Amino acid sequence: MNWSRRGFLGAAALTGVASATPVLANIPGGVRKVGFHNLHTGEALDVAYWENGAYVPDALQAVNHVLRDFRTGDVHEISPKLLDLLTSLSARLETGQRFQVISGYRSPQTNAHLHELSGQVASGSLHMKGQAIDIRLPGVDLTHVRDTALSMAVGGVGYYPTSDFVHVDVGRVRRWSGS
Ligand SMILES: [Zn+2]
Repeated sequence: MNWSRRGFLGAAALTGVASATPVLANIPGGVRKVGFHNLHTGEALDVAYWENGAYVPDALQAVNHVLRDFRTGDVHEISPKLLDLLTSLSARLETGQRFQVISGYRSPQTNAHLHELSGQVASGSLHMKGQAIDIRLPGVDLTHVRDTALSMAVGGVGYYPTSDFVHVDVGRVRRWSGS
C-alpha cells in the first residue's frame, strides 16, 4: 500500500470541512470526557472538557497540568483537537479506561535531551507543541489501538511495540513504526 498517497488524500479530505467534525463523527451526546493516568507522576484525571457547545477552560487547564513535562515541570497548552482525537479513539475502542500516558508535553530542552539519547525522538516533535501524546490502554491490544487510530485518519500514528505505546498527534496524516 502506498501510505504517502493515502496520507495525502487523508489530509486533503480534512481541509475545507468544519474543524474537528471528522474527528468527532463517532462521539455521541453533548459532553466530551477524557481520562488520563500519567505513569511518570502517578496522577490521574477524569474530566469533562467540552460541555454546552464549548470547551471548558478549567478542564483544559487541568489537562495541561497532568500532561506537563514531568522532567522540568513546564506546563504547556495541550491542543483541544488532540483531546477530541482521544475521545473519538476511546469511543471507537468502546473502552472506559483512562489513557495511560507515557509522554505528553515535552519542553524543547527535554525533547533535545531525549533526541540525543534515542533515534526514536524527532528533533521537531509535535510533543513540543502540545499536539502529540504517547499512550496505551489497559486491556486493549496495542495493535488494536494503532489500527483504530489509523482508521480515523486524523494525524500521525506511531507504533512502538517494544516500548508498549502508540503515539498519536494532530499533525499531518502519516504513520511509522519504532521499537
Ligand atoms: Zn510521541
